[in-house]
Amino acid sequence: MYSHLLITYGELALKGLNRPSFEAKLIANIRSALPQIPKERIYRTRGRCFVHLEGEPLDKILPALSRVFGITSISPALAVEKDVAKIQEAAWQVTEERLKQGVPFTFKVETRRADKKFPITSPELSRAVAAAVIRKAAEKYPGLLTVDVHEPQLLVEVEVREEGAYIYGEKHSGPGGLPVGTSGRTLLMLSGGIDSPVAGWMMQKRGVELGAVHFHSYPLTSERSKQKVIELAQVLASWGGSLPLYLVHFTEIQKALHAKTPEKLRVILMRRMMMRLANRLAAQHKYQAIVTGESLGQVASQTLDSLHVVNCLSELPVLRPLIGMDKEEIVQRAEGIGTYELSVQPYEDCCTLFVPKHPVTRPTLGPLEEAEKALPVEDLLDEAIAKTEQLVITPENNMW
Ligand code: ATP
Ligand code: MG
Repeated sequence: MYSHLLITYGELALKGLNRPSFEAKLIANIRSALPQIPKERIYRTRGRCFVHLEGEPLDKILPALSRVFGITSISPALAVEKDVAKIQEAAWQVTEERLKQGVPFTFKVETRRADKKFPITSPELSRAVAAAVIRKAAEKYPGLLTVDVHEPQLLVEVEVREEGAYIYGEKHSGPGGLPVGTSGRTLLMLSGGIDSPVAGWMMQKRGVELGAVHFHSYPLTSERSKQKVIELAQVLASWGGSLPLYLVHFTEIQKALHAKTPEKLRVILMRRMMMRLANRLAAQHKYQAIVTGESLGQVASQTLDSLHVVNCLSELPVLRPLIGMDKEEIVQRAEGIGTYELSVQPYEDCCTLFVPKHPVTRPTLGPLEEAEKALPVEDLLDEAIAKTEQLVITPENNMW
């Protein structure tokens, strides 16, 4: 029955100066989330986006839109001419959808008049529409509908705009945040664990376009563990659009560390190699920052001292969106965004291969730099970069 989806985007309105480019990105992202709907049926006018429906199933469209950052709400709406009787009829249809369930509820009509030339004021129109709806409900569904202007269970909204009037009731919440692509590009260090996919998602939510880098130790780690990372990247792509995944061959570095460096420093030495490689890739592909899933104190390599001796190698800012979160909070978020089930699948990670029994928790630079003298650091980095494989990860097609 609905002819349109009316989409609101809150936070954008606050960002005065950048608003036009934010709106353009949002529309572009909505269009790519709904590839089955022709572009011209997805448009925006003054502070709202619209999808003109032609019978497409809402149960496919709503989940897709609920992953487009920047959207605050999505409402199925009826569009009619700016004529009081037509607006009343549409408001009735919207209300009747809920009356059909046979459960009593309270309602209220609220009008916004973006078109100030429309001759009737908002309060007058709200009253006229509410009166008509109440009258019909009393005839057809006696006893089910009452008015409550303070806390209505159903808010019927009427928007009178230049091009016509939109009437809607139910509201689905969007994910909030900012449209992906409005905050620059960052390179996510993506492991197969629980944390880093969540860190990537949090950056996407702030409008960042992601690339992801994964360090693997094939053939010491299996093909399946690489597949797991690809699947995690697919989930991220379903939120923020397609992303490049750089698969870096880390085996030779692992072997060299194992053969030539003291066991208790190895985790940090490995992290330092990863950070150097991430910076090289970022420079090559023009990312503005590195993102990790580190959370303070979670493991030995995530103490402030450990973070420092890795961080100091990075030319670019290293962003750690999970730094202050507890594991339970991260797990909850991972479940919500759809990465948890994948992350807990038991496939080995390159980091878990050579984990020492007693890693240092308070590393200092001196011994690390000393240990690295035993390694051909530059050659190892060059070789790993040269063997890097680049994939483009597209969202799993979850449309109809
Ligand atoms: P995660 O759950 O993200 O694996 P973790 O709690 O297991 O994190 P670590 O293994 O210490 O923590 O890793 C810290 C961060 O380093 C990860 O969040 C990730 O950003 C990065 N990282 C670790 N291993 C890899 C890898 N194999 N490839 C890419 N990045 C990695
Ligand atoms: Mg890990």
